[in-house]
Amino acid sequence: MAPNLDHYNREITYLRVSVIDRCNLRCFYCTPVKDLKLFAHADILSYEEILKVIRVGTDIGIKKVRLTGGEPLIRRNFAHLVESVCRIPRIEDISVTTNGVLLREMALPLFEAGIRRINVSLDTLNPLKYTKITRRECFHDVWEGLQVAEEVGFSPIKVNVVAIRGLNDDELLRFANLSVLRPYHIRFIEYMPIGRDGNWTPEKYISSDEIKAELEIFGPLYKIPHSTNDGPAERYRFESAKGEIGFISPLSHHFCPSCNRLRLTADGKLRPCLFADDEVDIKTPLRNGCSHEDLKVLFREAIARKPREHHAETLEKGECLRLMSTIGG
Ligand code: SAM
Repeated sequence: MAPNLDHYNREITYLRVSVIDRCNLRCFYCTPVKDLKLFAHADILSYEEILKVIRVGTDIGIKKVRLTGGEPLIRRNFAHLVESVCRIPRIEDISVTTNGVLLREMALPLFEAGIRRINVSLDTLNPLKYTKITRRECFHDVWEGLQVAEEVGFSPIKVNVVAIRGLNDDELLRFANLSVLRPYHIRFIEYMPIGRDGNWTPEKYISSDEIKAELEIFGPLYKIPHSTNDGPAERYRFESAKGEIGFISPLSHHFCPSCNRLRLTADGKLRPCLFADDEVDIKTPLRNGCSHEDLKVLFREAIARKPREHHAETLEKGECLRLMSTIGG
């Protein structure tokens, strides 16, 4: 049996790495404003450790890496990490998820470090609402960052929009229009009950089908055939649009049967499923000097512990406690 096949015959090829738990925003649905517990610096994996874990991953079949956070761009010398990951043989695809606040300054160094694709999270096109969501006044930084990323040559630039009823459901058509005018891939993500911060309620959740129906008021959406790099996104395009629309539907259309991911948390745990707090500690053995072969065993264990599917809809209070900012989405 191939080392990266799980019990349900899924091939695990994708590692999402949270490089830091800290963030320069305080999005209300992601980061609590009170009692925010951050890891001690010593508990966060060093770049050397992250690179070591990724190299071990490539030995069992990891080919694709996403660097996320917290906010990855606030970590010192982040472009250096990107460059080092790009140099790892057998990594065929590397991308970054960022809130874009520092993208204006960082787009060129990141491009020069070797990445070509970037995901920027932006839930609203309204600067005042942006401040309400993120508790920071950075809308214009992100907006300019997107433009600089485009000038520098990033392609595709994906804009992640978490759709939340009563918050940004009045902006769906503005985002649709943005996908027509700019070469951005607007990706609507269903709001997920993660972190148990009490913010998520069923009323705030909007399904991808509902968003799609609303967007079709704007014009017909043409389906783009699925390609291997799409992950779970269903892709569409409006006629003559420069960009695209994508739907990521973890709740309404489980993509568990095709899940190919493991996550590495900022504090060095391999997490088999986004929605389950079952994790394999890789940091302690790593720091205790365990061998490359032993680390491979831990990877296999994390793969073996991947559940058949998540049960996010029925999570009880007290499950899935880890904050999204330490997992990275
Ligand atoms: N700081 C980076 C950013 O903002 O993109 C990377 C980390 S952030 C945790 C990654 C993604 O997770 C963001 O697009 C964010 O909107 C999304 N996210 C956080 N909490 C979420 C939730 N409860 N449901 C859906 N998406 C969520």
